[in-house]
Amino acid sequence: MSRLKIKRLQSGGVITTYACVSRCGHCLYNCGPHRARDYMDGKQAEAIFRRIAGLGCHSVHIGGGEPLLDLKKLTGVLAAARRVGVGIEYVETNSAWFADPDQADRVLNRLMEAGASTLLVSISPFHNATIPFARVRGVIAACRRTGMQVFPWVNAFVRDLDRLGDDCSHSMAEFEAGFGPDYLARIPDRYWIHLGGRALETFRDVYRGHTAVHVLEQAPLSCARALSDTSHFHIDLYGNYVPGLCAGLAFDMQDLGQILPDGKYPLLDRLATAGIRGLYEWVAREFGYTPQRDGYLNHCDLCTDIRRFLVRVDRKRFHELAPLGFYAEPARE
Ligand code: SF4
Ligand code: SF4
Repeated sequence: MSRLKIKRLQSGGVITTYACVSRCGHCLYNCGPHRARDYMDGKQAEAIFRRIAGLGCHSVHIGGGEPLLDLKKLTGVLAAARRVGVGIEYVETNSAWFADPDQADRVLNRLMEAGASTLLVSISPFHNATIPFARVRGVIAACRRTGMQVFPWVNAFVRDLDRLGDDCSHSMAEFEAGFGPDYLARIPDRYWIHLGGRALETFRDVYRGHTAVHVLEQAPLSCARALSDTSHFHIDLYGNYVPGLCAGLAFDMQDLGQILPDGKYPLLDRLATAGIRGLYEWVAREFGYTPQRDGYLNHCDLCTDIRRFLVRVDRKRFHELAPLGFYAEPARE
């Protein structure tokens, strides 16, 4: 059985926390107010940046969760990057922290002193379910005043958010009432959405599901490619390396750079060598798994379902089902 080996890292970021004031419908990592308020500390950040640099990647983004939930710790992470010589491409934010222009200027000045030069500012109807657009505007205006560069993600929704009003939050039902009942269904044409994490539940009624048998027939024979894709990797505050876009799967960052140790990650071994079919057959045989729903959106939906099942059966058994907070998200029936 040939196991996974990540030799080099191309492009990615660090997840400073999984906590967030928002609980966006598209969030790949199932972040939200229900997640632990744990935050990456400077020492851990330094170890992570050293590992990333040692594998050939010399600049990253800072993400979450919401990195600005703890400004002091965020500046500690930025300082660690500076010590190690890893560049910061941008810091992500949802702007919920905005209170007034002076406060926003102070926050941004502290970030710039610590080494940040660009803020990725999230703009979407999902974020707007919790965060009034006026706060996003306030942060963008503060960027202009202080000289922080802005990376708006994405401007395509500004007109819609304006029309509904920027002084309060708006539910998806309000967007559908204002712009048509297919508003949610049209979002993936306007905005990159990966159908994983919470997006699976949000889009479950939008896309036609397929039976597990059909999904298994259509699935790739191996997930090695997806798992070894390092063009969008993440390492989180617990030292988990999150491969590709496979949220809820992880391995210890100390195991990067070598073939994954024999027997330590049996689920990843199966996914890498025999794909979702291999995982399905093994979990059905060993644990009596049967598909928990009638329709699946894709093979990653089925993979997530199998992993949820395994967490219910024995939450501590599989190292790669991490962080466990990902699975605290209730699946919709
Ligand atoms: S997408 Fe960003 S703002 Fe939304 S819940 Fe996830 S981490 Fe929070
Ligand atoms: S099926 Fe699982 S391992 Fe394979 S790409 Fe999807 S989430 Fe990743």
